[in-house]
Amino acid sequence: MRIVALAGGIGGARFLRGLQAAAPEADITVIGNTGDDISLFGLRVCPDLDTVMYTLGGGINEEQGWGRADETFTVKQELAAYGVGPSWFGLGDRDFATHIVRTQMLEAGYKLSAVTEALCDRWKPGVRLIPMTDDQVETHVVVDDPEHGRRAIHFQEWWVKLRASVPAQAITAIGAPDAKPAPGVLKAIEAADVVLFPPSNPVVSIGTILSVPGVRAAVAAKTVVGVSPIIGDAPVRGMADACLTAIGVETSARAVAEHYGADLIDGWLVDEADAGVTVEGVEVRSRPLLMSDPEATEAIAAAALDLARELAQ
Ligand code: GDP
Ligand code: CA
Repeated sequence: MRIVALAGGIGGARFLRGLQAAAPEADITVIGNTGDDISLFGLRVCPDLDTVMYTLGGGINEEQGWGRADETFTVKQELAAYGVGPSWFGLGDRDFATHIVRTQMLEAGYKLSAVTEALCDRWKPGVRLIPMTDDQVETHVVVDDPEHGRRAIHFQEWWVKLRASVPAQAITAIGAPDAKPAPGVLKAIEAADVVLFPPSNPVVSIGTILSVPGVRAAVAAKTVVGVSPIIGDAPVRGMADACLTAIGVETSARAVAEHYGADLIDGWLVDEADAGVTVEGVEVRSRPLLMSDPEATEAIAAAALDLARELAQ
């Protein structure tokens, strides 16, 4: 079976690990969000691609969900000693090496998709990981700053530095309208038996991938099953509610499915807490959706595949 999954960081990566366990024979292509990418200290950092790569490759810091296991922070401390920031973005020594290799390759003229493939040669994630685009797309957030007035800041400044404590007036993927899907993205979607939306952030992960011209239409032509990142009226982790509020979508499993729309998704998994939720034109199933351990996560992925197979008939 050929599966395509659109993925952000932690929610996406954990689901993908369950998917690999549920479908060991499947050919899985992951289209990764690059809207969170940021240049720091002259280095190109791709947090979501790296979270998927480290998680599936066995290098992730399990408790944290991002960054490397057995990490040290000597470089960060040395930079701070020089007064060189930002200090709010946690880059460890091992992680720095990834960004140095990536930046060197980009500067030598390789596209991000080729660089990602090269990094995955080491990590062997067991999936084909492709960035959504080789073009630069950066998510920016418009905030009202008491000091500077209304201004747009990089998504990471809003998410990591401000912990989304300042309301987002708007969230924009800068560069998306002119971006082209990376080589292989549309082909993989066209060849897929099923497209899955892991419980990734609907706005700044899945939404950003879908904003690359051509991707949404390609996905809409397939059997698509999504897993809700919202249980009850809150995200399972993180501040996805702040992103949904910014685009005028209520924080609920039903509202997220309606936001994707019946023209895009065919099936939607919601948690048992949301049993009874209906979405017009979408087949909704309820089951436990907490990715609390590998077995629970595998069962979620298996349920998504079962529903997809049923809907594909
Ligand atoms: P990020 O890029 O690291 O923020 O990660 P993603 O965009 O891939 O996923 C973030 C989303 O994953 C959040 O909205 C969470 O609500 C969701 N999430 C995290 N853990 C779980 C879980 O165990 N179950 C479900 N259903 N969603 C989860
Ligand atoms: Ca992310």
